[in-house]
Amino acid sequence: MILCVGEILADLIGKSENGNLAYDRRAGGAPFNVACGVRRFGAESAFVGSVGDDLIGRFLCDFAASHVDRAHVRVDGRRNTTLAFVELDAEGDRSFCFYRKNTADACLPPVPKRLLARADIVHIGSLMLSEKRGLQYAENLAKTAHGAEKLVSFDVNYREDIFPDRGAAAALYKRMLEAADIVKLSEEEYGVFGRDYVAEALFEKLVCVTLGAKGCTWRYRGESRTLPTLPVKPVDTTGAGDAFYAGALSKLGSLRRSDWTRERLDEVFAFANACGALATQARGAIDALPSLQEVEAALRG
Ligand code: ADP
Repeated sequence: MILCVGEILADLIGKSENGNLAYDRRAGGAPFNVACGVRRFGAESAFVGSVGDDLIGRFLCDFAASHVDRAHVRVDGRRNTTLAFVELDAEGDRSFCFYRKNTADACLPPVPKRLLARADIVHIGSLMLSEKRGLQYAENLAKTAHGAEKLVSFDVNYREDIFPDRGAAAALYKRMLEAADIVKLSEEEYGVFGRDYVAEALFEKLVCVTLGAKGCTWRYRGESRTLPTLPVKPVDTTGAGDAFYAGALSKLGSLRRSDWTRERLDEVFAFANACGALATQARGAIDALPSLQEVEAALRG
């Protein structure tokens, strides 16, 4: 089972209609998207997060219950649900605005022991690193997971509007990158940390770097392979990285570290690439997730 822990929120996607701006409400949050993807790709998934006792929080609780195998979403009566407004300009470029000052996902519930016991991989989201309490929570969770002999996963998913100081953010992220066993970075994030850092400090980690239309690179103990992805014409790349990572984790959950051979990892990341590429074929993150059958058919060509 893949246990994902971190932010669940509503994406409010602005659309101009007849001179009025309308917001389309969608469930989101990177680790939550990953939990939904894992289930869609055929592995068991669990999610731990927090929402407010409000309209959006209730929507998200219901959504989580029907899209994740084991959802543990705390309803926090003292805080509101986190929101992420997304607007597109005339060129189609996206801007984000988070409503996340002391909202529910800034104070996550403890991970229930029964979920931890069942997990093969504990995947930790990155938004929580913006508060001292969240960083402590993430580090403690990584330690507890390792104590229970689980693999720990971390997706950098750097958000400039949450972490305005890049240097300070990189220092925090390094703590989690070094605490995890499996880490995901985008090409740009890889550039921020640098080749030498990844090669040396993350030598023992399985590192996945997403490269958009160019596919991905995986690295493990000095070995590095770049795998092309499916050639597609993207409609919307929102959530492609989460779909890719859900695909990777859904396969890695049934492998042990000793199974991380070149052949097995090539299979895992070819599958992940197909999940990411097909997720660009429709709008949204969770709604655009392909089915397992679609991914397998695309891989057969
Ligand atoms: P991230 O959110 O991590 O930056 P990417 O945009 O690199 O994610 O996308 C994740 C994966 O989705 C890529 O590794 C690739 O397999 C697939 N993908 C993304 N964009 C495209 C594209 N334009 N064409 C084909 N595949 C794509």
